[in-house]
Amino acid sequence: VTPLDSMVDALRAAVGTAPDRPFLTYFDGRLTYAEVDALTDSVAAHLAGRGVERGDRVAVLLQNSPHFVLALLGAWKAGAIVVPVNPMYKSGEVAHVLRDAEVAVLICGERAWETYLRETAADSPVRFALTASELDFQTRDDARVLNFARTPTDADDLVDVARRGGTPPQGRALTPSDIALISYTSGTSGTPKGATNTHGNLMGNADRQRAWLHLPDVPVYYALAPLFHITGMVCELGACLNSAGTLVLTYRFEPGVVLDAFTEHRPHYTVGPSTAFMALAAHPGATPEHFASFAHISSGGAPVPPALVEKFRAGFGPYIRNGYGLTECTAPAASVPPQHEAPVDPASGTLAVGLPGPDTVVRVLDDTGAEVPFGEHGEIVVRGPQVVPGYWRRPEATAETFPDGELRTGDIGFMDEQGWLYVVDRKKDMINASGFKVWPREVEDVLYTHPAVREAAVVGVPDGYRGETVRAYISLRPDADATPADLAAYCKERLAAYKYPRQVEILPDLPKTASGKILRRELRSRSTDSD
Ligand code: ATP
Repeated sequence: VTPLDSMVDALRAAVGTAPDRPFLTYFDGRLTYAEVDALTDSVAAHLAGRGVERGDRVAVLLQNSPHFVLALLGAWKAGAIVVPVNPMYKSGEVAHVLRDAEVAVLICGERAWETYLRETAADSPVRFALTASELDFQTRDDARVLNFARTPTDADDLVDVARRGGTPPQGRALTPSDIALISYTSGTSGTPKGATNTHGNLMGNADRQRAWLHLPDVPVYYALAPLFHITGMVCELGACLNSAGTLVLTYRFEPGVVLDAFTEHRPHYTVGPSTAFMALAAHPGATPEHFASFAHISSGGAPVPPALVEKFRAGFGPYIRNGYGLTECTAPAASVPPQHEAPVDPASGTLAVGLPGPDTVVRVLDDTGAEVPFGEHGEIVVRGPQVVPGYWRRPEATAETFPDGELRTGDIGFMDEQGWLYVVDRKKDMINASGFKVWPREVEDVLYTHPAVREAAVVGVPDGYRGETVRAYISLRPDADATPADLAAYCKERLAAYKYPRQVEILPDLPKTASGKILRRELRSRSTDSD
């Protein structure tokens, strides 16, 4: 099947076949395909009426709400490029994105606008803002989501605009080579750069995702990963739209709310970081019944400890399918197809991330750029229809990361003889202890086999004697009891002397990005500050 040119075309196709099917559900509210089409026509008409031209940038800072989808599809219908911004960003981080992408319009939550974004935008290229009232979800007392109470602001309200009616501007049809998104990488490694995902990149991966899942005819997707992150955008919204399914939105990750949504909507598919599944598994109310409707659960964007997959299956039933991708390759590059389970490498205990996707070539290279033999470590590089053309206005970074259009991921990995890909760790996370290489992942995988461990992150910290030494940060399961010395001893029994963590610190929670990845960078600076 040839993918459609853009998600706007996919919306129109769904309106053609199932206009009255619920596309988005949000607590007690739902919007059909025909309603979303009409509302986004009006958003596009408004944007064009206020001078937005084809290719202008519209930033969207919203959580998983219908408002996000209205803003996104409305902006695309106006021919604009969308810049999804993590709503947890602080003012300085938002300011960087607004300037770097030269954003013309900002669509954000009204409280965020009132509390800090009006000020942030004043000193930026932003010409005007639309605000959305998406916050009062916990009350659940309104029958329709679009009637939530408002905080008055001086900006136009997105939903008012959407309901006004209007015809989108003509002659702005999107082609696969047009830039759809400028996606700022989530920033576990330094200043965010904008990857330019084209409509072709998005639609290709969304459609491959839809095709391999073999979900029921009217699939229900639950949006666990945030839509502002490329995984949510492609594997949830894109795949759902391509199959005219229903997308269940619940604002942001809150384990009790997520489990209620599973009971109410009986979803067939979801994807999220492994930390989200750990949090769901640790929730006192979680039962196998909550997960009984799922045909597939995927984990993407962060390492998946094999012990978690087994604990989750034993406790709740579903098998968590690993998947590997980056913003720069529009989410999946490799995943575990439905007919397989990911093997675990016997030597290192690492769980495979998957097999390369259709039309995708994944290679593992040494420092000279030559392919390494099966089983040997090297840098993972990806070539395929999902690889973005480059970074927004950064020719040097683009040339460095995408030589000849191939993505250098910065991840170290290996491939086995069957073609399964394994991610060892990020190149820059390697710990050098007295000249021995220690990959944090391997130590974390061992820590996760300990029954008391909920979350684990391992970093290298400066050490006068060894250069660097291994330090583990742990959060414990509720009611579990273990001391730092217990955990160090547990690892010492299972790992070579240079690998086990000589320092262990227990924290109530580990710092994470909004997409749920543990922030090793923050832990590393914490170690330096406290030492
Ligand atoms: P930044 O690029 O600023 O560090 P980020 O890496 O969090 O931000 P993403 O594009 O979301 O931005 O993350 C991609 C990275 O996530 C990959 O390079 C890889 O290190 C890691 N990753 C993704 N999937 C997996 C997986 N299944 N197993 C291990 N690591 C993974």
